[in-house]
Amino acid sequence: MVSVEEAISKVTAYFFKSSPITKSIHDSLGYVLAADVFSNIDMPPFPQSAMDGYALCIHKSLKYTIVGEVKAGDSKIFELQEGEAVRIFTGAAVPQSANAVMMQEKTSIENSELVLEEVPKPQQNIRPQAEQIRTGQLAIAKGRKLSPSALSFLATVGVLEVSVYPKPKVGIVVTGSELVQVGKPLAYGEIYESNSILLANTLKSEGIIDYTIYRVTDVYENTKNLLEKVTSENDFVLVSGGISVGDYDFVGKALRELGTQEIFYKVKQKPGKPLFFGKCTDCFVFALPGNPASALTCFYMYGLPMLRYFLGIEKPFLNRAYKKIAHDYTVKGIRAQFLKAIVTDDEVEILSQQSSAMIAGFINANAYVFVPEYSTEINKETLVEVILLP
Ligand code: AMP
Ligand code: MG
Repeated sequence: MVSVEEAISKVTAYFFKSSPITKSIHDSLGYVLAADVFSNIDMPPFPQSAMDGYALCIHKSLKYTIVGEVKAGDSKIFELQEGEAVRIFTGAAVPQSANAVMMQEKTSIENSELVLEEVPKPQQNIRPQAEQIRTGQLAIAKGRKLSPSALSFLATVGVLEVSVYPKPKVGIVVTGSELVQVGKPLAYGEIYESNSILLANTLKSEGIIDYTIYRVTDVYENTKNLLEKVTSENDFVLVSGGISVGDYDFVGKALRELGTQEIFYKVKQKPGKPLFFGKCTDCFVFALPGNPASALTCFYMYGLPMLRYFLGIEKPFLNRAYKKIAHDYTVKGIRAQFLKAIVTDDEVEILSQQSSAMIAGFINANAYVFVPEYSTEINKETLVEVILLP
């Protein structure tokens, strides 16, 4: 049995990343950049009109002679003399000889001449060349997770391919003879299986989509055979249930029998004591307790950070902060506790639903209050450590 702090440091000691791969921006949402990316172009590549209106070569009068038109996408070149203007539209290249764009709402046409309502200011409504970024300038630094806007910016600066860390292949193994997939009828003694939904969607929300769900009843041989297959097919394996001390909890025995190196088993925490972390030849295994709140807590605290690090994220642990607690709280037991809570700008409140068998508490919670081992009374208004949920 290890403490929460020991468990965290043991998991951290095994963090690793794979070699970067090259991917198209069309296919790299959620990947993390393994190298800085520089702009291939000046953006905008030419002085660009920010308005529909007229590009002018400014002179003293408010009247201008219109000598042509430039639409977005045109590459026509105009040499404007003072007092000349071209019709222009948003996004079109402003002639080098123009020094202002007047929006069309502030103009009129009289006897086919352009008349301005006000004196133009030099460079108004012209987006200068390279206003956003210059060729060769840093566009996005390594370590950044690629969001839709980051990917769109890479397209903007002419970058099609990026160097990123690969995403992991994850196996989710659901154990339990009492479990029925939702949609089917329940017999007496059975419950609906929900941890695969919990874990798969937590992975998805982290951008990890290459996962497979496997299911097995509480039969030793079947558990061992399945784990042998799953640990050879995946980078990480998350097992749900079967890791406690019951007569039908076969996961630990099967993993040991298969030669899995135990890094730790059992953490002095609530919920989530019977957590197993181990290393197989080509993969790491987190055998999570089956109670849903325990499974999620163990995953958030230990499994998720390891997966995030593999993805290339340098600070993979859930964020922590200190907040004033809104009420007194009597701690039950001596183990460290992760208590579902609601954090607001200035305080934190511990929720009533703390059972490890209940997932519902997480629906409203946005944080844990972390209570260290051997804590007793927590008085209202004292500062407590909170761990923010993803
Ligand atoms: P175990 O860790 O296998 O002893 O399971 C502990 C508790 O969690 C039992 O009440 C199980 O029925 C429940 N449980 C285990 N796996 C799941 C699952 N995949 N979905 C919902 N509940 C589960
Ligand atoms: Mg079980």
